[in-house]
Amino acid sequence: MINIDPTTAFLVSFALCYYWHALGGTLGYHRILSHKSLVVPKWLEYLIVSGGYLGLEGSPIFWVSTHRRHHRYSDQPGDPHTPRDGVWHSVIAWMWSPKTQMTSEESQKMVPDLYRDPLYKLLHCKHTHWDGFLCLFLSILFRVAIFYVFGIWALLGNILGSIVAFCGPLLVNSVCHMRQFGYETYKAGDGSRNVWFVALLSLGEGWHNNHHAFPQSARHGLKGHEIDATWITIKVLEKLGLARSIRLPKSEMTDSEELAAEKEMELSVKS
Ligand SMILES: [Zn+2]
Ligand SMILES: [Zn+2]
Repeated sequence: MINIDPTTAFLVSFALCYYWHALGGTLGYHRILSHKSLVVPKWLEYLIVSGGYLGLEGSPIFWVSTHRRHHRYSDQPGDPHTPRDGVWHSVIAWMWSPKTQMTSEESQKMVPDLYRDPLYKLLHCKHTHWDGFLCLFLSILFRVAIFYVFGIWALLGNILGSIVAFCGPLLVNSVCHMRQFGYETYKAGDGSRNVWFVALLSLGEGWHNNHHAFPQSARHGLKGHEIDATWITIKVLEKLGLARSIRLPKSEMTDSEELAAEKEMELSVKS
């Protein structure tokens, strides 16, 4: 075991693990896999997505098919987690008592691109609860490794970071579709809202009304005060030459950028 001062181990582990687990959901599962808002090298995609997976976000195929369904039926019958079916349902109960079921065949039609990826296919167990059990098992193994290599304080920092990161998507699915919170900038045709405290906690995902208005945009915080930590990360990756084909709301793209992004998206979904 590596000998580290307990306070340092806890704080560094908390900060790194919160950022990595949260980014896995927002940048990995959401902006890269679900919406193809940008392209990163495959090794980096796996590294980012693994943060979400080991933060208990579950099978990427399950997550992305559920999320694409959410956009297709937003706040209508068929939406997997709308607060119109109950607040607790939208926060978390939809996971174990869903009001709409998706078969493995429907999921294959919803995310054909992910079914072609060997790793995402491997982590997927035919759209059953075994998806979740496999994710839980590997996540526990990961934390056992943290304990043996870095000690108990690093493990506690990881657990707290994971819990905070896990709360982000739960609040996006619920609070960001409730009119008691936040504000609406765009008429997106659903109940989506921009909520600042959810955005802060979830690295920018709380600018959810902007997201529903421009689902493929890599940038969710569109106004000066709408801090979007995931977007800042994307800009850093772009500067490092690690992110390309970054999609933005049409008004912010030139015609040639839009055309190039459109082509890239088609290719990545087909390949
Ligand atoms: Zn939504
Ligand atoms: Zn989305």
